[in-house]
Amino acid sequence: MEKAQRHRGARAKKGTEGKGAISRQLSVGAKNLSPFMISRANNYSPLPKEKRMMIDLHTHTILSDGVLIPSELVRRAEVNGIEAIALTDHVDYSNIEFVIAGLLRVTRVLNQYGKIYVIPGVEITHVPIEAMGELITMAREKGSRIVVVHGESPVEPVIVGTNRAAIKAGADILAHPGRITEEDARLAAEKGVYLEITCRRGHSGTNAHVFGIAQKTGAKLVLNTDAHLPEDILTKEMRDAVLGELTDSEETRSAIIRNSEEIVAEIKAKYGRH
Ligand SMILES: [Zn+2]
Ligand SMILES: [Zn+2]
Repeated sequence: MEKAQRHRGARAKKGTEGKGAISRQLSVGAKNLSPFMISRANNYSPLPKEKRMMIDLHTHTILSDGVLIPSELVRRAEVNGIEAIALTDHVDYSNIEFVIAGLLRVTRVLNQYGKIYVIPGVEITHVPIEAMGELITMAREKGSRIVVVHGESPVEPVIVGTNRAAIKAGADILAHPGRITEEDARLAAEKGVYLEITCRRGHSGTNAHVFGIAQKTGAKLVLNTDAHLPEDILTKEMRDAVLGELTDSEETRSAIIRNSEEIVAEIKAKYGRH
């Protein structure tokens, strides 16, 4: 919720240790060479890149502190080539019903007439950890199709213990989890809670830590923008830059995007196109 700025982070230290799913994939290829470099060295043409969907599962509209109404955010996202987007406005006990009701109304129409797939969601933000379970349940009951929790970002005074509470209570995505502990990441892996790699400046300062601990523990990652402004909306270049700071492995980057595809497929199967 801090003043919005685009991610321009310094090149992060790469973590390649550990025994998680991603690191197992990493060990398939040469560790520090991109597939392109390998194929050029061997004089082969590079393999055609596997097509991955453009997806963003964490964005904000004027229903909380974003600057665009949902219809404009979704239209601009569609023009950027995004194929599925979750609208996840900040909620607590004061506005959870109002936000979800509005998002459900607009989602129905946008999904009916647009090409991009829109998912109504919430980001439970700065709430007492004791209330986490009840709010997650309430969000789902009111119709939220994805539940993001505002994790312990290094740039905000999020209550210590929020990461653990969100994972225990079964959030779908723990956003910007900061310096998440190994124990919490293991619990996330066990419970199928996705950890977020973020494009958002400030929050993104701990991306390398989150990536490393996910490799070590097998926790699954997703990449989101946490967009609040038109210029925050995901582009392919932004996605590739943020993932490229974490790993040279196209396979690993692809696996992260595939996680978002799996979430979208699951939501579509459950709720249908509208
Ligand atoms: Zn915000
Ligand atoms: Zn957010």
